[in-house]
Amino acid sequence: MQRVAEETPIAEGEWQSYDVSARTKEFLSKNKRMYIDGAWVEGADGETFRSFDPATGSDISCLPAASKQDVSRAVSAARCAFEKGPWRDYLPAERERLLMQLADLMEQHRQPIAEIETIDNGKPLAEALASADGTIAYIRYMAGWSTKVSGMSSTLSDPNCAQAYTRREPVGVVGAIIPWNLPISMAAWKVIPPLVTGCTVVLKPAEQTSLSAIYLAELIEEVGFPKGVFNLITGMGSTAGAELASHPGINKIAFTGSTLVGKSIAHAAAGNLSRVSLELGGKSPVIVLEDCNLEVAARGAADAIFYNQGQVCCAGSRLYVQRGLYDRVVAEVAAIADSIKLAPGLEPGCQMGPLVSAEQQNRVSNYIESGLEEGASLATQPRPAKQTGYFVSPTVLSDTSNEMKVVKEEIFGPVLVAAPFESIDEAIELANDTPYGLGASIWSDSLSNVHSIIPKLRAGNVWVNTHNLVDPSLPFGGMKASGYGRELGSEQLDAYLETKSVWIAS
Ligand code: ADP
Repeated sequence: MQRVAEETPIAEGEWQSYDVSARTKEFLSKNKRMYIDGAWVEGADGETFRSFDPATGSDISCLPAASKQDVSRAVSAARCAFEKGPWRDYLPAERERLLMQLADLMEQHRQPIAEIETIDNGKPLAEALASADGTIAYIRYMAGWSTKVSGMSSTLSDPNCAQAYTRREPVGVVGAIIPWNLPISMAAWKVIPPLVTGCTVVLKPAEQTSLSAIYLAELIEEVGFPKGVFNLITGMGSTAGAELASHPGINKIAFTGSTLVGKSIAHAAAGNLSRVSLELGGKSPVIVLEDCNLEVAARGAADAIFYNQGQVCCAGSRLYVQRGLYDRVVAEVAAIADSIKLAPGLEPGCQMGPLVSAEQQNRVSNYIESGLEEGASLATQPRPAKQTGYFVSPTVLSDTSNEMKVVKEEIFGPVLVAAPFESIDEAIELANDTPYGLGASIWSDSLSNVHSIIPKLRAGNVWVNTHNLVDPSLPFGGMKASGYGRELGSEQLDAYLETKSVWIAS
């Protein structure tokens, strides 16, 4: 059984040995600043923090750590741009035009965006490119909504007394706090919808992966959005993030991250009655019925957990297989896991990169140990530990039970826990036996079985014979401890709009 190295040796500037674009090299070599009120600024108290290349543990950049004063400055800039600036009064078509321009510019920069993401986060370059493309498509989809936000007119009970209609208006200043697993997509999911509706934004990316957000800010500046409309602060969650969440100048907080931090954000925002939307953790079940196509299900179950090193909130991390197929499906998924090429994300042919940080590597490794101690069996082959980088090899633990810690808690790594079930009712019970409710997938060729299960799953997203699919047009979000509110689709705009009812006496 492979165990990760206790200490990861540091190698300087390892990413430089790969063939990355000149633009990426230039960006990474520059001093990093925050973007507030249309200007690039240092932190007020000069505090900084470092970002690391998870493939080697080496330093990439030094970034400003926003203080309370910096957060206030960014919120004030966003407030001023909202109250006095031209943004919310722009013609909707003008907002759409600028957002479309941003998407076009991002398309021109897709290679550096993806390379920076890979160097900062660890993911394979092919996945980072796909993520950049998905983000660009999302921005174009959302930009189109700028011209389609509308209210309604009402036929009142007594139409002789008044005429009435509703207006949809921007909610105000938005604080956006995002995680490190899908940095560029998360930045867009949080920043674009408020810009569509005429809000202004302060974005705080995760301290582990702030670089693509800085790159995005450069592109936003190049497009020429009015100053103060978009502001970027970098820094720690417990200081800059907490300060943003509790700031009285914020009208709405949009957060994606852990359930624990989500709860603290909801508490902090409650004091100001700021609106909150939370996209939190998950422990999504993958239910494989005996009437499935085994090959498709095994491949799908492997992709459901191993994409992005398993660092996905809706990753299919619990595999439940009907008894008759259990051994074969587990063996097949384990064989796929064993065949995955583990390498630095920039290495050609890499299928799985390192985890984002040493902390995450230790956390995930500890979960694997704990599963084995609790009696799970290791279905995957041990691999020799890598000398550098925060790698954890894809792991399948079989014969688990819902009482085990590895089954109950979100691991956020390439670790799949598997258990058999006898009946469909038992599968539904096992699947719902979790505090989370983000995703679930069903693998079956029987439409009637599928239809009987879908309504019984307590999850915001249910996939059939696939997993982890998202599309700009379809709402995404969770139930229970996976949070509230929806992103994507037209429904996402509701989070950034107020409804004003207007009465005009007849
Ligand atoms: P993870 O545990 O996966 O790192 P977190 O939920 O801790 O995820 O982090 C997600 C985002 O929330 C990051 O941008 C982080 O800086 C921020 N964050 C962490 N703690 C807090 C907090 N107490 N208040 C506000 N934001 C926070």
